[in-house]
Amino acid sequence: MRLIASDFITRFRPSLCDLRVWLRHHDALEREETEYELVLRRLGNRHEQQHLATLGECLDLSGVAEEERIRRTSEAIATRVPVIYQPAFRVMQRFGDIEAEIVGYPDFLIHDSDGYIVRDAKMARRIDEENHPEILLQVQLYGWLFEQSVGVAPKILQVFNGMEEIVPVAHDGASALVALERIAAIKRTQEEAYEPVGWTKCGPCGYNERCWNQAEANGDVALVPDVDQSLARTLNSIGIRTRRELLHNFDFASLSELKRPVGNRQQRVGKKAERILQFAEAMEQRTERILCTPAIPALPNYAMFDLEGMPPHLDELDRIYLWGVQVFGENPSEFMPAVSGFGSDGDRDGWLAFLANAKKVFETCGDVPFVHWASYEKTYLAKYIQRYGDPDGVACRVMANLLDLLPITRESVILPVPSFSLKVIEQHVGYERKLTEGNGQWAMAKFIEATETADEAKRKELMNEILVYNEEDLSAMWAVFRWLQSKTGETISAPQAS
Ligand code: SF4
Repeated sequence: MRLIASDFITRFRPSLCDLRVWLRHHDALEREETEYELVLRRLGNRHEQQHLATLGECLDLSGVAEEERIRRTSEAIATRVPVIYQPAFRVMQRFGDIEAEIVGYPDFLIHDSDGYIVRDAKMARRIDEENHPEILLQVQLYGWLFEQSVGVAPKILQVFNGMEEIVPVAHDGASALVALERIAAIKRTQEEAYEPVGWTKCGPCGYNERCWNQAEANGDVALVPDVDQSLARTLNSIGIRTRRELLHNFDFASLSELKRPVGNRQQRVGKKAERILQFAEAMEQRTERILCTPAIPALPNYAMFDLEGMPPHLDELDRIYLWGVQVFGENPSEFMPAVSGFGSDGDRDGWLAFLANAKKVFETCGDVPFVHWASYEKTYLAKYIQRYGDPDGVACRVMANLLDLLPITRESVILPVPSFSLKVIEQHVGYERKLTEGNGQWAMAKFIEATETADEAKRKELMNEILVYNEEDLSAMWAVFRWLQSKTGETISAPQAS
């Protein structure tokens, strides 16, 4: 069996999943890379090349066939070549009855007085157990491969991270081997093992369509909102694989008593059992159920509010590049986007433009609610008040008027849907987007492209695409809002027996 250091990345990224390891090992067809993934790959390569350029003359083994590369790596180490780029190691190792060849290509070997430094370049900013265990394991495996191949341990293991810092990694070949043994066991399995799907877990995965379609076709219990991964595995282990089986075998009392592992403990499902059964029933019968009147204040106008931002690992500033606002209701406004500029003050300029827009909204409509979906808008409003201040108190006024539609929706209706993501709920209420391929990652990829191009016309075109996407987000949220409002007059269903 062949095991490679990047198997750790396969298992942990974009989410922890054993099935992804198995599918790749069995050459299962994966979707093509998205625009976002291609941008990430390009940025990663650039980061690596920029670091390489600072290391002086090197022996470049990238592109050399594996056998030859291993041989030349060994020769170069023996003659103390100062910098070896893309070396290769291969070591045979037995895990029980599995005979495996373990292969690794670190980015750099750097000679330092009496030994070699093993260093990898990564875009990630926080290299630790909590944020990137796969990077630690990968680099630790390189250290072990070096030691097995050369006969002495490398001087030190390091990562050149996305903040352009050198981060040391502890030598721990034993941990890397334990983690690799698990991967060997997954690869060896003949049959595909059960792996619960999850909205966040599967969303960015290349096998999303495959696994999701399969789960839908099977009526998999993991599709029920509030059934977490651990509960889905526990149910599966006692033969409950579908929603129908769940409803047939459990009532509120028995499901709430069922225990599943959470951390190091066994925890009862508890009160969540009621909602799980309600959701399972709604999905089976394809019906919706009103639990209570949605807590929406009756007002003439509402501002829909949605932000587009860059995650901290891609942008030094952890920046919001688009603050989208539009008033709907009796006095509707135009779409009011505030876009971060591309110069050094761009981030602040975007914030000030948003405050000017919000001020205009208050002047025209008074204290309207700023309606948003989930906690992202509130978190970033607070961050930007900290970062640049709030000279006229407009941001604090927006903060006081925030109305998060997600908890209102969750508390008031049971829907036959697998997630309370806005994209799913808007489809349920019948909203149709013109821009079908757009999502948050797609918009980020467009923004990165816009940041990097020197062609003004191209930049404008890219930014326009993002604006269209954000404007549709606001319209979709308004459609969900109106739909929820329409439920305020409907009869509330009787609670399920508990
Ligand atoms: S789609 Fe989900 S279950 Fe399937 S391989 Fe990816 S993360 Fe795993």
